[in-house]
Amino acid sequence: MLPFKLVYHDAYDLNLGAHVFPSQKFHLIAEKLRADGIASAEDFVLPEAASDTDILRVHTPEWVKKLKTGTLTYSDVMKLEVPYSQELVDAFWLAAGGTIAAAQSAQRDGFGCNLGGGFHHAYPGHGEGFCAIHDVGVAILRMKNDGVISKAMVIDTDVHQGNGTAAIFAKDDSVFTLSIHQENNYPAYKPASDLDLNLEDGVADDEYLDTLLPAVRRSLEQFQPDLIFYIGGADPYREVQLGGLALTLEGLKKRDAEVFVEARKRKIPVVTTLAGGYARKVQDTVQIHVNTVLAAREVAAQFPQSEREGNKAGSSFRAKSAE
Ligand SMILES: [Zn+2]
Repeated sequence: MLPFKLVYHDAYDLNLGAHVFPSQKFHLIAEKLRADGIASAEDFVLPEAASDTDILRVHTPEWVKKLKTGTLTYSDVMKLEVPYSQELVDAFWLAAGGTIAAAQSAQRDGFGCNLGGGFHHAYPGHGEGFCAIHDVGVAILRMKNDGVISKAMVIDTDVHQGNGTAAIFAKDDSVFTLSIHQENNYPAYKPASDLDLNLEDGVADDEYLDTLLPAVRRSLEQFQPDLIFYIGGADPYREVQLGGLALTLEGLKKRDAEVFVEARKRKIPVVTTLAGGYARKVQDTVQIHVNTVLAAREVAAQFPQSEREGNKAGSSFRAKSAE
């Protein structure tokens, strides 16, 4: 049994068929976690779809209406780059509910993993790059609205810059956005995150980690978030179709683990979501995402729950009253 929950629903599958976005990966990740004996039935939590109230904290009423009524323009669909369907819309609402559930779990257990989500290219008023609804943004504003957190940090390690995240939180000082990505890649227009780590083509494990980890440490020290949202992209991997970095499977797992160590040392709970994964072999994409869960398990064991300040009192992983 895992020391934290995995949030997953079969309807995460966007049913895109042969599309470059391997949406069957969600199902394959959950299946592999069970098949490898990493997780069992009681580790999984079934999410509910986010409410429209939750969605509307991030997205404009016009965009929500277009999605709900199937009235996207041709240009909307071109930007979104996935065919419209009601199932697609349901999957995005569910993914947002999943990231909310993972955030609530993380608050209790120190980690909470949504085996979906990470749709970081969605803007308030339009979708882009396979992302219609910004689940992480929705979850952050829900947690803030519930008074559970006052400050959140997004650490986005997808190979593509987190443009939607940067745009949503551009004027919000309570959310720190950090994105490490390949500069010479989608999106062409990159609105400024609080910290953008722009990498040259072909960067491999050592240079990547030497860039990311000091920046994570510095940002955590300065900003001191109550909760971290970790967008764990599988696409900095060297064997991918839509990326130009050169990380190995081991390097990616180390990336996850080292970020988690920095969070855990400071007793800051971490919500993990998936993000892009376009390995030539879908098994590699699945393994990279499974490794994120394994990294969380290892780091949780390394920094056990007994160190949790609020645990004995039955309160959350990191009491907000610590401020
Ligand atoms: Zn990506």
